[in-house]
Amino acid sequence: MRISVMDRCNFRCPYCMPEATYHEAFRFLGPKERLDFDEIERVARVAAELGVTKIRLTGGEPLLRPGLPDLVRRLSTLPGIEDVALTTNGVLLPRFAPALRQAGLRRVTVSLDSLDPVVFAHMSGGRGDLPAVLEGVDAACAAGFEGSVKINTVVQRGVNDAGVPDILARFRNTGVTVRLIEYMDVGNRNGWERADVVPSSELRARIAAVWPLEPLPPRYRGEVARRYRYVDGAGEIGFVSSVSEPFCGMCSRARLSSDGKLYTCLFATTGTDLRAVLRGNACDVAVDERLRTILSRVWRHRTDRYSEERRHSRLSRPGTGKASDRGKIEMHYIGG
Ligand code: SAM
Ligand code: SF4
Repeated sequence: MRISVMDRCNFRCPYCMPEATYHEAFRFLGPKERLDFDEIERVARVAAELGVTKIRLTGGEPLLRPGLPDLVRRLSTLPGIEDVALTTNGVLLPRFAPALRQAGLRRVTVSLDSLDPVVFAHMSGGRGDLPAVLEGVDAACAAGFEGSVKINTVVQRGVNDAGVPDILARFRNTGVTVRLIEYMDVGNRNGWERADVVPSSELRARIAAVWPLEPLPPRYRGEVARRYRYVDGAGEIGFVSSVSEPFCGMCSRARLSSDGKLYTCLFATTGTDLRAVLRGNACDVAVDERLRTILSRVWRHRTDRYSEERRHSRLSRPGTGKASDRGKIEMHYIGG
């Protein structure tokens, strides 16, 4: 289960929260609209009873949520939860990495799209701080996440694809795994076009020409990234190919937005309101029972397969496809 703890962000990556939309007057959720930690813990506890074993905290920028280590501690000690992970843009990691580790966080993914200051500035909407993000990666390794730190790189043709080898070179032989993510048509505001996507197969061929690669088997059913290792033993990289090689049939992710809506797909248009249940006036036992019923029903009846449908639509034609206008939930709100 992926839990978005904060819809706000201190970056404005154009592929996620373009500044033109997310300007000063944009209305984000207020503190009372967001689920509080008791409410998040409660949903997670019921989800764990139903079989959820892994939780990833995301956003928006999750480290903007005050007291996040406290939430990590609560979630990581829930019966049945084996793994709590975090996806962050990394700038606040130098400050929080030790406390997160002590609270029981097991894995950290830092988003980093370029090592070129100009490209990085563009891809973070002019708000990123490249040295701080790199310091954040180091802080995570130093805090004991070593071996469980990943880098997420969203690749856009003509924007940062030429700089991918620099990122790989920096993290080869460090134990940090880079995952190259195809630019997706999440939300409705990033102006996605099929022509901006670099298919993983193309990227893989370009990389293998420099550093030969060989495939690795998935570690578990539903693993999103296709794993490869450098033949020279310098580590692994992953490819997340939701546009060119959709994996909807294997998807096992439920998503909880910061205001308590449950979604079963990153490209969903509607969610199920759990906050109304949490804040209704039923007794604790009745709330838990209601949550259990809703979670099981929503999960059993999910039919989402957006990425596979996209593959068979006009969006799959190189150079012609624009993003679907079906009113998808925005990524910063549902959580990436
Ligand atoms: N702010 C945090 C961060 O950037 O890591 C967490 C939230 S962010 C929405 C989660 C992940 O989604 C990031 O790795 C980001 O690069 C990725 N992402 C956002 N928009 C995307 C898009 N249009 N296509 C592919 N990945 C995207
Ligand atoms: Fe913020 Fe992450 Fe979206 Fe960038 S990708 S705008 S850092 S939520």
